[in-house]
Parts: sequence; C-alpha cells; structure tokens
Amino acid sequence: MKAICWYGKQDVRVEQVPDPEILNPRDAIVRVTSTAICGSDLHLYDGFVPAMERGDILGHEFMGEVVEVGDGVKDLKPGDRVVVPFPISCGNCFFCKQGLSALCENSNPNAYLAEKMWGHSPAGIFGYSHLLGGYAGGQAEYVRVPFADVGPIKIENGFTDEQVLFLSDIFPTGYMAAENCDIKPGDSVAVWGCGPVGQFTIRSAKLLGAEQVFAIDSVPERLRMAEEGGAETINFETVGNVVGLLRDLTGGRGPDACIEAVGMEADGHGVQYAYDRTKQALMLETDRPIALREAILSVRNGGTLSVPGVYGGFIDKVPFGSLMNRGITVRTGQTHVHRYLKPLLERIEKGEIDPTFVVTHKMKLEDAPKAYETFLHKGDGCIKVVLKT
Ligand SMILES: [Zn+2]
Ligand SMILES: [Zn+2]
Repeated sequence: MKAICWYGKQDVRVEQVPDPEILNPRDAIVRVTSTAICGSDLHLYDGFVPAMERGDILGHEFMGEVVEVGDGVKDLKPGDRVVVPFPISCGNCFFCKQGLSALCENSNPNAYLAEKMWGHSPAGIFGYSHLLGGYAGGQAEYVRVPFADVGPIKIENGFTDEQVLFLSDIFPTGYMAAENCDIKPGDSVAVWGCGPVGQFTIRSAKLLGAEQVFAIDSVPERLRMAEEGGAETINFETVGNVVGLLRDLTGGRGPDACIEAVGMEADGHGVQYAYDRTKQALMLETDRPIALREAILSVRNGGTLSVPGVYGGFIDKVPFGSLMNRGITVRTGQTHVHRYLKPLLERIEKGEIDPTFVVTHKMKLEDAPKAYETFLHKGDGCIKVVLKT
C-alpha cells in the first residue's frame, strides 16, 4: 500500500510499504478514505518530537471502511464506515473505565520510554512516535486499528467524510478544551491560536454558553475564520500588549478562562521569543511556551487555564508564582476522544455545528509532501488539509 512516511526534519515521503495485518483478535483493518494533517503532526515534521524512526507512518486523524476484523471484534464488520479516535484505548483498564481514554494503561507497548521522560505513560497514539507506542498511522491506504471494539464510531447516516472526519481529534480536542473551563453564562474566554483546534475551541466555547470569546493569532485567514465563528479577534503582531488589552476588554479583571491552543512551537516577538527559539534550537529547552506565559498572565484571579496545545518536555520561565498566588485552575491533557464521539456526532446531526467550515485544502494522499509544506508555512490560506486516498 501507499503510506506517508517520516524520514527526518521536514522530510516526509510517499512510500510503498507492506499492507497491515491483523495481529490481535481485537484488531480491525480499515481502508482509509480520508485523513487529515494535524498541527501536532507539524511538531513531528519539524523534528521536535523524540523517538521517531525513519520510515514511520504518520497520521492520527483518519476514517474509512472496515475491511477485516479479528475474531474478538463483535461490533464491527467489513463494510462498516468508521471514524477512529486518535488515542488507542483498551476500554477495560482503571483509566478507560473512568472515561479517561487518553490515559489507557494498556495501549502503549513502549511505556518504559514515556516513563523515563514523564514519570508515567499515557495511552498509545496512532502515528505519533515510539514514545507513544510506535503505531503505524492513518496517512496511508490501510491501517491496523487495535481494540477496534472500543474506539471507532460507526457512521450510518450518509454524512460526507469532511462532516465527520474531525471527530477523530480536533473537534473533541477543541470541545474538551472549552468544557475544561466550566463555562457559565456571561463568561469571557480567550483562545490563543486560531489553527484548526483553536477554531473548534472557539465554536465549542460558544456552544457551551460563553458570552465573549477573544481569539488571538496573527494570520489574517485564521482571524477571519475565528470572527465567523463568533470571536472578537486580536492580532498579537499589531497589538503588542495582549495581556493589557484583554484586561481592558474585561472590566480590568481578565478573561474568566484562557485557553492555550498553540503549544510548543509558538510564534511571537521580542526578547523572550528570541530566547526560547535559541534555547529550543540548542536542545536546552524542548518547547517554546510564549503563548502559555501570556495566557497565564491574562486569566482573571481564580480563573481557569486550559491547555490543549501540545508540549513534549521541559519549558522555561513559566510564571508558576502567578498561577499559585492567584488561585488559577489548570486543566490539560490529550483528549479523551472516546467519550465525545457520540455527543458530538449528535451535535453535528442536529446542525449545531458543521465541521466542514475548517477545510481549506483537499489533496490526494500522494500529495502529502506538498501538503505538509503548505500547511507548515500557512501558504495559500491553508488552515486545514484533508488528504483523500
Ligand atoms: Zn491531531
Ligand atoms: Zn485502557
């Protein structure tokens, strides 16, 4: 089959690789019809995630048709159309039973690697380094889906791929980021990063009743899309002092919740940015937490900081004293996608949201190298790329 393979920094290739096979009775093989490139794939593309090996198949946002199931899979059969969540979860462990599927303790065969870096291991993730299981990803014609009786959701109502594909990650991720803020009527929420996750965060905050949503970015197309989603936009390039502006816009208090949907490769300006870029380039710091610092300083006393942005390791000069002294609640984590699949599919069915708004580019799977480049440089108004097999 054809697959998109990682070969190093900004080097992804279309390769001919062996078809996946059933390895475990609870596996299914899915023929991928659509797959997307995620902002977090860019961290792999830019070489910031450790434990990648040459030839690894990328991709954790995908959907398609079941073509084969193992003996232990009861709920799926060949021909079923499914969307697959990006975390791999057993459904039976301590964490899965509590709905914390991104923390499954049975799905990362390389847990010892993650434990060295993070103390404990989270769940395995499709196409996201050997630190998170070394699973082949879904930017391919076929993919092996472990625990197929737990993760995939069947799509039976004739939606197009683009309407439901983002249930695999960015819609639940944006939704959980907003839900983590316990939004009450009248609340103000500020969102850093208007990439795909930020866009779903903005719309989810609105769905959950936020009165004011501020969206912070510097890319005009992203800010425009945020505005269409009901946000008041702030261009950090022209504003300069985002913390001060947000304070002024919220009666001197700061937003009730701040959501950091940027992560480890934040853009910014000034001394702090130069400092982080240099340290990251010298491998003295794994992440550039510029948006994170700003979000911490902005949130009102006693408010909530929610972080869907992806971080890999260690960060410098995080104003922890601000969090402690001002009683800020911090919520973060990889998304427990499994628990959001049904409720969010229902919201799509009811017409409360149409996830296709985020798609700016549709390309062929074999155009992935070009797609990665376009997405990285945000060229041609690119916000979200869907690859079709
Ligand atoms: Zn993703
Ligand atoms: Zn589990």
